[in-house]
Amino acid sequence: MGISDRPSPRIAVVGGGIGGLATAAFLHRAGLDVTVYEQARELTEVGAGLVVSPNAVRLLRRLGQFERLSARAVALEIGWEFRRWADGRVLFSQRLGDECERRYGEQCYVAHRADLLDVVRAAFPASALRLNSRVAQVKRRADDVEITFADGARVNADVVIGADGVHTTVGRFVARTGAPRFSGMCAYRCLVPAHRAPSFALRPVQTLWLGPGRHLVHYPISGGAQVNIVAFGPAHDWTTESWSAEGRAEDLRAEFAGWAPELTALLAAADRTGQWALLDRDPLPRWTNGPIALVGDAAHPMFPFYAQGAAQAIEDAAVLARCLADQPTDPSAALERYERIRRPRATRVQQASRDRAETNHLPDGPAQQVRDESFAKEDPLTHNGWIYGHDPELGLTTNDLELKGSKK
Ligand SMILES: Cc1cc2nc3c(=O)[nH]c(=O)nc-3n(C[C@H](O)[C@H](O)[C@H](O)COP(=O)(O)OP(=O)(O)OC[C@H]3O[C@@H](n4cnc5c(N)ncnc54)[C@H](O)[C@@H]3O)c2cc1C
Repeated sequence: MGISDRPSPRIAVVGGGIGGLATAAFLHRAGLDVTVYEQARELTEVGAGLVVSPNAVRLLRRLGQFERLSARAVALEIGWEFRRWADGRVLFSQRLGDECERRYGEQCYVAHRADLLDVVRAAFPASALRLNSRVAQVKRRADDVEITFADGARVNADVVIGADGVHTTVGRFVARTGAPRFSGMCAYRCLVPAHRAPSFALRPVQTLWLGPGRHLVHYPISGGAQVNIVAFGPAHDWTTESWSAEGRAEDLRAEFAGWAPELTALLAAADRTGQWALLDRDPLPRWTNGPIALVGDAAHPMFPFYAQGAAQAIEDAAVLARCLADQPTDPSAALERYERIRRPRATRVQQASRDRAETNHLPDGPAQQVRDESFAKEDPLTHNGWIYGHDPELGLTTNDLELKGSKK
């Protein structure tokens, strides 16, 4: 049977992280035939939190998953609250709550990663997910794509979507890339149970501490039961780029020694930390190769300084599904359209995230004073308007899809 004889192209998604599962969820919503192949034996996300910004929330709502998200996540009253490292002085405070909803139609949430994974996982049938399936190779053939797994098994698909993260295997069959550069920075991440955290850290606020060569973000997750900490500083000789690598809590504390007492009290309550070297990658020259395309970190790995990697993966997923729903018998054209729509925006977020590395880490001095004064002059909520206000589905015509569940 050729592709034009099938009711839907056979779509294989490689990778069951937030990007891959969101892709499956939007493809399922569009009535397309999708199977996800994930290498792990069970679905897992590391024990850490992430921001689910309004641009992602409105898409999750359209998947019918808003209640599942809001039941476990924390709605932020203040988005970015920037504080000075030495004395905790507030430099910038982005009041969210009702005002965020009025401007952008949705609130901004913080969630445990496993909870967000569960939200996207719930939006398509479990039978479409194959665990313990590590993809080793994809090969374009005349009529379809052959996928070979690490155990030698093979399947054929009409479309292959690489959602396999920053160390993508599928990406090798899409675009040649240069080696990533070591940024010299690393991230620490840890969770502190709420009962051990200072009450300051339990506020529904994304607090960001800025200091010379370092910054640190914390917010409550899991309905307020835990505080998530992500800290960025010099990597020294740490070069491992893996979320599962364990660092030492005392190294984290040493990096922030002498900072304001509210912050050091929070770090004193951390007994374990992950540590992750931040590698810097240039935007890819292309995201698609015929019927093969990339989404999420595989397509646009970015520094986490705008807290947008997963949100951008969810935006990719929504657009990709709509493009394939519009042109199911010509996947290559559909994927090209997807890339045309998505690449400029994701590249802009990638670039903005990269620029923040310098701004966030200015040493005390004239440039830092100019930065801090400019914070005081900005309307904090407009500051992120280009990110939060974006609706990637608006303006896309689709055969029979409506913006279901949309509030707008
Ligand atoms: C410190 C830090 C903080 C962050 N904070 C935020 C935030 O607040 N908000 C936000 O939106 N984003 C944030 N991000 C970014 C976000 O975590 C990522 O962008 C997002 O998780 C990427 O999802 P993904 O599905 O593309 O990739 P991944 O999560 O890496 O998933 C890839 C999946 O593919 C599987 N896989 C890999 N290779 C194969 C293979 N060969 N065969 C089969 N399966 C395979 C893996 O097992 C994995 O399950 C942060 C990132 C960092 C590092």
